[in-house]
Amino acid sequence: MLKVLIILAIIYFGYRHLKNKMLGDMGAGGGQNGTRQGHADDVMVQDPECGVYFPLREGVPGMVNGETLNFCSTTCRDAYLKKHS
Ligand SMILES: [Zn+2]
Repeated sequence: MLKVLIILAIIYFGYRHLKNKMLGDMGAGGGQNGTRQGHADDVMVQDPECGVYFPLREGVPGMVNGETLNFCSTTCRDAYLKKHS
């Protein structure tokens, strides 16, 4: 009988541990929602000139053939525009 109680106790605590873990993950998921917007601001784009990846908001936009491209710097934008105009 004691063995059964011990086993039940282990299952109970194991279950509680799992539940806490799941709740913890859900809490972290809520946090991810908050950071997801931050990620939207930090969309990584590739510079078509030098191939470097950089955050879109830090990029330098440039119009090429009616298309807006993003460059890592004005130097790259100017070099690309020179080549493609
Ligand atoms: Zn560049």
